[in-house]
Amino acid sequence: MQPILEHIQRALGDNAGLALGYFLLAVLSSQVVLLAYSSAARLSHERRQRRLDHERLETLVRAAKYRYKEAQEVIQGWNGYRKFTVRQKTGECEDVFSFYMVPHDRKPLPPFKPGQYLTFGLDIPGRDKTVVRCYSLSDSPTRPDCYRVTIKREKAPPDKPGVPHGVASSFFSDHVKEGDLLNVKAPTGHFFLDMTKNTPICLLGGGVGLTPMLSMAKAVAESGSPREVWLFFGCRNGAEHMLREDLNRLRGFDNIRVVVCYSRPGKADVKGEDYDREGRVTIEVLKEILPSNNYEFFMCGNGAFMKALNDGLEAWGVPEKDIHYEAFGPATVKKKAAPTAPTVTTGPACKVIFAKSGKEVEWNPAQSNLLDFALEQGLRIESGCRAGSCGVCSVAIKSGTVDYIKAPDAAPEGGSCLTCICRPKGDLVLDA
Ligand SMILES: Cc1cc2nc3c(=O)[nH]c(=O)nc-3n(C[C@H](O)[C@H](O)[C@H](O)COP(=O)(O)OP(=O)(O)OC[C@H]3O[C@@H](n4cnc5c(N)ncnc54)[C@H](O)[C@@H]3O)c2cc1C
Repeated sequence: MQPILEHIQRALGDNAGLALGYFLLAVLSSQVVLLAYSSAARLSHERRQRRLDHERLETLVRAAKYRYKEAQEVIQGWNGYRKFTVRQKTGECEDVFSFYMVPHDRKPLPPFKPGQYLTFGLDIPGRDKTVVRCYSLSDSPTRPDCYRVTIKREKAPPDKPGVPHGVASSFFSDHVKEGDLLNVKAPTGHFFLDMTKNTPICLLGGGVGLTPMLSMAKAVAESGSPREVWLFFGCRNGAEHMLREDLNRLRGFDNIRVVVCYSRPGKADVKGEDYDREGRVTIEVLKEILPSNNYEFFMCGNGAFMKALNDGLEAWGVPEKDIHYEAFGPATVKKKAAPTAPTVTTGPACKVIFAKSGKEVEWNPAQSNLLDFALEQGLRIESGCRAGSCGVCSVAIKSGTVDYIKAPDAAPEGGSCLTCICRPKGDLVLDA
């Protein structure tokens, strides 16, 4: 460097110092410009990188939130109706069909608790209003790639031959076919088996009341739990023996005992093959077969079936807390107020006026709710879940107030009451 500078100095003579100064200044300036440019470029790159990182983070957060929402939906179910496609319709026995349904949106299905039910909103030709009905999930909840319900056509009562058969159950039997779409609400219901417990259980199913019982028994079987299970199923004969394969498969589990009782076996029915005992499922049968009364009992069937068994179990010393039941129709099991229910009125009797029907009746304090009371009076009030969830039994109150036996799952419209879970507080006028 030194010889070059000296050479330049010699060449430039007296102005050499000045020229050299300019030269050095130019070099320095270009260095400063270069440095400033590269710093600005680096800063801009870093800023862009930070913005990209931020955007990437935001995308990740959005995706996580979406996945969380999806997972919550899967766990909690969904709001309102969701479309389901009938994948399979299987005849189980006379007038009973099983429907296997998959979600039309193909998204995952939430698991349910064994014993819970689905609520259907059915648009039935010839009906101006959507018909709402509930049907128990009849299969195991452990692998819900589809939901199954099993539905029995409800025929006209024998003493009223002129009236039509049940509207929804006939629609399912006669019209719903594979590929059809149905509007379905998420599984719900307070009648279910607590799978975290290990207490021995006795399941009592009468007729189509077998559906929630089967779900419970299959849940225990498929979970691999050693929990002791007794399942009693009562029907008339082989023609009414629904879900036979499922019941037979349960016999293969050491901890599960299945007892099928035919009250009137047919000529072709073979004891030991088709059924285990002749006669109904009664308290005497339970006393004879069960090793003790130390079980949690779950029952579902018609009113007479449940009333007889409930009374028998209570008389046998089974605590009320160990007897659980689900009523598919008018509930006539427990006349006592449930522990959580308000105390049954013993004060002055009150009047219930059904304004539309022109009926004025003394309230029967032994009756469990206004819906059953109205049915007892011969009125027809539509009902669905009978548990304060579906809102179908809602009736407008013209005057008076009601007490709720349990809080409604969804508040009824202002000025109305859910008759399936309430009782009059005093004189009451209903728009029914
Ligand atoms: C939680 C829950 C779970 C259920 N699970 C199941 C299940 O798993 N499987 C199942 O099959 N059912 C189940 N049910 C019952 C189901 O919801 C329906 O109540 C049943 O299918 C009858 O409904 P429907 O519309 O066919 O009958 P509806 O039309 O409601 O008629 C009911 C009865 O009244 C009669 N009737 C009609 N008109 C008159 C009239 N003018 N006067 C007198 N009687 C009349 C009909 O002939 C019929 O016998 C369940 C119910 C609840 C609450």
